[in-house]
Amino acid sequence: MQDPFQSYLATLHSTAAVLGLTTADIDALSTPDRIIERTLEVERDSGEKVSLQAYRVQFNNARGPYKGGIRFHPNADQSEVKALAALMALKCAVVNIPLGGAKGGVAFDPKGYSKAEIERVARAFARAFANDIGPDRDIPAPDVYTTAEIMGYILDEYERVHGISAPAVITGKPLALGGSLGRDTATSQGGVYVLEELRIRLGKERSDMRVAIHGFGNVGYHAARILHSLGYRIVALADSKGGLVSERGLDPMAAHRAKHETHSITNLYCEGSVCDTVKMSEDAARVVSPNDVLTMSCDVLIPAALDGVITEENAKDIRASIVLELANGPTTPAADAILKERNILVIPDILANAGGVTVSYFEWLQNRTGERWDEEVVHARLRPLMTDSFNEIWSIHDERDITLRQAAYVLGIGRILEAMRARGKQQ
Ligand code: GLU
Repeated sequence: MQDPFQSYLATLHSTAAVLGLTTADIDALSTPDRIIERTLEVERDSGEKVSLQAYRVQFNNARGPYKGGIRFHPNADQSEVKALAALMALKCAVVNIPLGGAKGGVAFDPKGYSKAEIERVARAFARAFANDIGPDRDIPAPDVYTTAEIMGYILDEYERVHGISAPAVITGKPLALGGSLGRDTATSQGGVYVLEELRIRLGKERSDMRVAIHGFGNVGYHAARILHSLGYRIVALADSKGGLVSERGLDPMAAHRAKHETHSITNLYCEGSVCDTVKMSEDAARVVSPNDVLTMSCDVLIPAALDGVITEENAKDIRASIVLELANGPTTPAADAILKERNILVIPDILANAGGVTVSYFEWLQNRTGERWDEEVVHARLRPLMTDSFNEIWSIHDERDITLRQAAYVLGIGRILEAMRARGKQQ
């Protein structure tokens, strides 16, 4: 698989050519401000001590404090975290919120850890990076396999270390600790606002939009639920264990229950080992492998899991006309070129999933002003930020005849360089 940071650089260079960027500009956008790598010593429930590698990459803060999630995943490494930090800087610039870009990661598999062990990892992370993060410095948030609960532990440990109350040091927290209404569904909701804008532009009905979703964590589930409630047809879903397809349409709420009761959506039609084959055949439903969902016939494909799932190998088999990237970096540059060739519209991650960080920004604002916004207020402020960015990116894509990803890079890079120049960082 391609190195994630190399993938970022590939898109940066292709956009640099369109924009006619100088070497100094390209260097500035290729070099993180700081790469911090620390080893966390964590005690397992058995008493055994393990050492876990932890990362925080602070990519660029020209537009505001560093901002970005922390992932707990065995594949987290310096290259991945660096690439994701760069994407965060671009993402915040694309939706025009006054924040920079960062990302964190701890390399371990939380699925093999108890709740108490995960809490110890989170607290060890907060202690190790206590002087690197801060409400005006660097504000973490959830990402792959990290939750509001985990953000609560990090906040608590950070406040304990510094002896202060500082809810704005982290976003995506539980509501009880100053979290924002609408944050847990924000990434999906933001993606839906963008998709709705595109659908209207294309003159399509919601009922004509058959959707396949790869990944059924927080983002994939809420996207499925919101789209289903709007009248889109969910024809395929996949979690990490398996996929389900039905031309007649799947019920995301029932799939969610199946996942929580039996650990996989594939048990949607089953209770224990007994499966309702009659209902399954009525719905024309089939169980497939997770990656088969990527190449299902549909109108909208939503990768909502990990990076690098749409590759040079499967891009030619994608049968969607729109790809909405709710995951970060799901399409490799080689796959991107194939999708472009095949006239498949890709709504890039730095726009499609920017709803999450946008509501994180709202949460940070609420913490700093002491306000509490209703969910309706959160949505009413999120929608125009998402749709304005989409429309700006669409115009750039149209005028310059470049992909939506390149257009999003043009918009984001332009704003970051403008801030850097205003600071006198560039000659
Ligand atoms: N992890 C999310 C992302 O990749 C949210 C980051 C944040 O809220 O800071 O955009």
